[in-house]
Amino acid sequence: ILATCTIIFVLLSITASYVLAKRSMKPIINSWNKQSEFVENASHELRTPLTIIQSKLEHLLTKPNATIMEQFESIGLSLSETRRMTKMTSNLLTLARADSLEQQLQKESVNISELVTEVAQPFIEMAELEEKELIVQTHNDHAILADKVRIHQLLIILLDNALKYTNATDKIYIVVKNVPEQVIIEVNDTGIGIKPENLPRVFDRFYREDTARAFESAGTGLGLSIAQWIVESHNGSIHVFSNRQKGTVFQVTLPANR
Ligand code: ADP
Repeated sequence: ILATCTIIFVLLSITASYVLAKRSMKPIINSWNKQSEFVENASHELRTPLTIIQSKLEHLLTKPNATIMEQFESIGLSLSETRRMTKMTSNLLTLARADSLEQQLQKESVNISELVTEVAQPFIEMAELEEKELIVQTHNDHAILADKVRIHQLLIILLDNALKYTNATDKIYIVVKNVPEQVIIEVNDTGIGIKPENLPRVFDRFYREDTARAFESAGTGLGLSIAQWIVESHNGSIHVFSNRQKGTVFQVTLPANR
């Protein structure tokens, strides 16, 4: 009996330590899986512009006597793909640092109305060039405790998207609203919209709607992941509402600094 009890006790101890070890390893394994998926996606996304540049350069080499004007299309495409890769690598670096918790936020009191007006200015001019209209609606002084550089980056991502996914004559509004204890920033456009079934995926890394890919080739699919990280690291939230062909609203809620 004693021998049987000892064997059962040893077996139970082994099972218990196996279960505990598996449970404690689970977050590490999940994080490895996430990391390798991230690296795989990043490599895949970087390979596309690299392939285009390589084929365009090979094409240029086959016609050494052609003028720049004759090779304009190949050179122009190589340049725009190089710019996209530069943007993508800098976005990847931001996300990798965010994942490793290396990004330290430098929080200070930020007047969000002033910041929105400042960031929107060049976009007003860019919108005019594309026959669109950007309207800024902010009246009061709204203060938040935030990293100014990151909030600046967040506003650029949302305004850049609004400009990318709209047509001539469309309107874009950036509105700052004051509600008790919170500041709400809304970027609202009358652009191409997002299909309802794709809405939950727009914050995923590398996700781009097929319509968006066809409409605008310059994206990386990383902007909204960075936007979400910035908002959440300021204890805020970001939501999207959209109607195909009617437009899109990105709503950011941040705690006010009172
Ligand atoms: P991208 O570089 O492709 O713009 P984002 O992460 O910023 O990457 O956005 C992810 C996807 O969300 C876009 O590819 C597009 O499908 C959709 N999206 C984002 N903003 C808008 C918008 N204002 N209107 C329509 N679709 C949008």
